[in-house]
Amino acid sequence: MLLDLVFPRRCVVCGGDGETFCRTCDGALRRLQGPVCERCGAPTAWPVDRCRECSGRRIAFTHARAAVEYDESAKRLVGAWKERGQRSLSRIAAEIVDGVLARPDAYTLTFVPADDNRFLERAHNPAERLASELGRSWQLPVVALLRRKPGAARQRGLTLAERRRNVRGLFHATGPAPRAVVLVDDVYTSGATVAAAATALRKAGARRVEVVTFARAVR
Ligand SMILES: [Zn+2]
Ligand SMILES: [Zn+2]
Repeated sequence: MLLDLVFPRRCVVCGGDGETFCRTCDGALRRLQGPVCERCGAPTAWPVDRCRECSGRRIAFTHARAAVEYDESAKRLVGAWKERGQRSLSRIAAEIVDGVLARPDAYTLTFVPADDNRFLERAHNPAERLASELGRSWQLPVVALLRRKPGAARQRGLTLAERRRNVRGLFHATGPAPRAVVLVDDVYTSGATVAAAATALRKAGARRVEVVTFARAVR
């Protein structure tokens, strides 16, 4: 492509020449393929039903799974993905997810909607892009089922308790939800956002909400 000649491609993580995301950085991403908490997907020493992170909490999603640990490299990759909205990065993220996770047992994919006030991000909402790429890989339809209330405070910099309060009632469904839904987001940090989105889907009739994210914060 002509553009490649004008702007030589650089790896979004290490800055190396040649590829948007180089093989070395790809190999260094930590896939979450070991034992995890059955419920929230936190890596654990051995398989458990609930873990320290999620036990005692009422969470509306059935399971949450992520492909990679949200470490420095994953942060850079997701950062570039969000800021530049490169379609190729959505494809790369989806391929990694597809390589690590089995297709969840549900027939409809949906995604966490971007904040309506952030026009730039809405133009390339990574969650939506990832859902559409996964829909292609898993041959599942992608349906926009959720809307976000405008004007909510951002999650960054808040404590865990504040995050949960901040997102309560943040989402509502645009219509009836199918019984089983895969809910896609780019990153699982505290789980508060996907839990709030899952609550809205449950209120709209979903019985099972399977959360899939590209990356997950590991405490
Ligand atoms: Zn690299
Ligand atoms: Zn857990």
